[in-house]
Amino acid sequence: PSLSARIGALLRDVPDFPQPGILFKDIAPLLADADGFAATVTALGPTEPVDLVAGIEARGFVLAGALAHELGCGLVPVRKAGKLPPPTVRRSYDLEYGSAEIEVPVGVLEGKRVLVVDDVLATGGTLRASVELLAEAGATVVELAVILEIAALGGRAALADLPPLRALVTA
Ligand code: 5GP
Repeated sequence: PSLSARIGALLRDVPDFPQPGILFKDIAPLLADADGFAATVTALGPTEPVDLVAGIEARGFVLAGALAHELGCGLVPVRKAGKLPPPTVRRSYDLEYGSAEIEVPVGVLEGKRVLVVDDVLATGGTLRASVELLAEAGATVVELAVILEIAALGGRAALADLPPLRALVTA
C-alpha cells in the first residue's frame, strides 16, 4: 500500500473530542508503529535545504525532533504561551475550538531557513500564526508539512498566501 494509505490506517477517529461535535484524528497509533513513524518522519522532510525544523506544541515537537535529527539540522519549538523563558515573541489566534496563544524564542531564528511541521492541519489558524510569528522573530519559513490535512475545514485555502504546504494524507 501507499504511504498515505499506511498512515491513514494508523489514524484513529475519536468522535466528540475534545468537545461535542468535533471528530478528533488521533495519531497515537501511528507514533506507536515503528515503521509507520519512521516513514512518516522521513516523508515530512523538506524539498529544499533548511537550517531548522520548527515543531508546534505538542505533537509537532515529536515529529520535529525526529526529523531534525534525521536531517542533521536544528530544532525550534513553537510553544503555548507562558512556557518559554524570555526573550520571546507571542501571538494569539483563533482555533477550530476556542482560541490560543503561542510563543517562540528570540535569538535563534534570525536569518534561518525553517521548515514548520505539525500533525494535523484543520482550519489553518495554528500554522498561520506560527509562520507569522517565526517571521517576526527573524526567520524565513520556506515550507510547511503536516501528516494529515482535514480538507473540509479549508485550511489549505486559508494558507494559500504562505509558503508551500505538503500533507501526507488528506481526509
Ligand atoms: P487549526 O489551527 O489548523 O485549526 O488546528 C490545528 C492544530 O490543532 C494542530 O496543532 C493540531 O495538533 C490540532 N488539531 C486540530 N484538530 C485536530 C485533530 O483532529 N487531531 C489532532 N491530532 N490534532 C488536531
